[in-house]
Amino acid sequence: MTINLLNYDSKGLVDFCTGIGEKPFRARQLLRWIHQNSTADFNAMSDLAKSLREKLADQAVIELPQIISDYVATDGTRKWLLAVGAGNGIETVYIPEANRGTLCVSSQVGCALACTFCSTGKQGFNRNLTVAEIVGQLWIANKTLRSDVSDTSIQANRAVTNVVMMGMGEPLANFENVVTALDLMLDDHAYGLSRRRVTVSTSGLVPAIDRLRERCPVALAISLHAPNDALRDQLVPINKKYPIKELLAACQRYLLAAPRDFITFEYVMLAGVNDSIAHARELIALVQDTPCKFNLIPFNSFPGSGFKRSTAETVRVFRDVLMQAGLVTTVRKTRGDDIAAACGQLAGQVKDKTRRTAGVSVEAVQ
Ligand code: SAH
Ligand code: SF4
Repeated sequence: MTINLLNYDSKGLVDFCTGIGEKPFRARQLLRWIHQNSTADFNAMSDLAKSLREKLADQAVIELPQIISDYVATDGTRKWLLAVGAGNGIETVYIPEANRGTLCVSSQVGCALACTFCSTGKQGFNRNLTVAEIVGQLWIANKTLRSDVSDTSIQANRAVTNVVMMGMGEPLANFENVVTALDLMLDDHAYGLSRRRVTVSTSGLVPAIDRLRERCPVALAISLHAPNDALRDQLVPINKKYPIKELLAACQRYLLAAPRDFITFEYVMLAGVNDSIAHARELIALVQDTPCKFNLIPFNSFPGSGFKRSTAETVRVFRDVLMQAGLVTTVRKTRGDDIAAACGQLAGQVKDKTRRTAGVSVEAVQ
């Protein structure tokens, strides 16, 4: 099987280079060509000897997911649908803002965790993405954004400055591949992003949160969505396995190593379900010992979801109650509505969803 160099972080590339009889420093050159210069062609790697380029071309490839579609929304949000083989597709979303460009990256084809309000969860689970497929999303976004001179939006010619693992899938259920991809995002010879600008969002896989703390502590967002176990059990079924108390304890441990001194709690606002003043008060009591910020996400609807978005007024009141208790709270702007690129709307193409019930990913991380 041909080796895809996009699957390797720095250490992997050093091993690869020594394995083919080359000096370890070649790995650094390769990292720079592949990730900083978005080069997928060995021939273009001008500071490598021709003989080495030939050897590489012989033994390895730099293979990216294929772009199936590329939509730009009226607000500048951009969404790529990428083919990852066997009829499966994943989605990646770029969100330009005045002072940064955030890429929302997928980690799995579908998701096994089946949160009831999430379109990806409703799709079922097919498989984990490889490192090449995860980091390939960043590669493709940078390459396209830099080369697109027709797009005059503020960020058009800038690279991605922030990554959020908030696309399709549960990143911590694909632990090893996600951590290797994170290593590349942070590596100065690859994407050079700071830990504070890379965020992993999780529905709460407690043992994997601890492992992330040890292996690669980046900014952490927790999909909380409910102030008590009875409600969270219904919305985020993995809560039955890792209830809120254990989750908050893991957050406290994470903070000891985290690049930021707070945890972000995401809270999707579902009309009549979790959006009352009483819920807000319960939340305040719940997180009183956890340094945190809240990010309220207006629910993004999808066909057959069965939920409704809370009104803007309800969201405002909920936010004010949290703020009055001293909790920093933002309301996520809904971006890319017209191209179904908002949180929870990423559906991709998930074939063979039969593995949904296999529980694969959840067990695999322990
Ligand atoms: N699996 C991870 C990351 C992907 S989802 C997680 O659950 O955290 C990214 C965020 O979007 C999560 O907070 C998720 O709960 C939220 N989300 C899912 N479906 C949504 C929807 N329909 N509307 C708004 N947010 C949603
Ligand atoms: Fe999976 Fe996250 Fe969607 Fe839950 S919210 S089903 S964990 S992608």
